[in-house]
Amino acid sequence: MEIADALGWLGTALILTAYAPQIGHLIKEKCTAGLSMISWHLWLAGSVLLFVHAYARNDAVVMAVQGVNALAVIITLYVAHRYRANVCTHCAQRHGQP
Ligand SMILES: [Zn+2]
Repeated sequence: MEIADALGWLGTALILTAYAPQIGHLIKEKCTAGLSMISWHLWLAGSVLLFVHAYARNDAVVMAVQGVNALAVIITLYVAHRYRANVCTHCAQRHGQP
C-alpha cells in the first residue's frame, strides 16, 4: 500500500469518527439543536456525486470515504427527522431557550 492510499484510509476513518459525537448526541438526547437540514441534504447530494465520480475513475479510497460519508449523513438525517424540533436541556440552556 502506498503512503497516499494509507493517508486516504486514515482520512476515511477520521471522517467516520467525526460523525460519532453528532450522531451520538442525536440518538442519546433526541436533540436536533443547531442542525441545518439544508446543509445536511447538500452534503448528501455532494457525497453521492463524488461517489459516482470516484466510481467512474475506479478510485477505491474516494469511493470509501464518500460511501461512509453518505451513510453517516443518511443516519443523521433519519434521526434528525425523527426528533425534529426536539432540544435537550443542555442545548436549550446554551442557546438561551426556556
Ligand atoms: Zn442538545
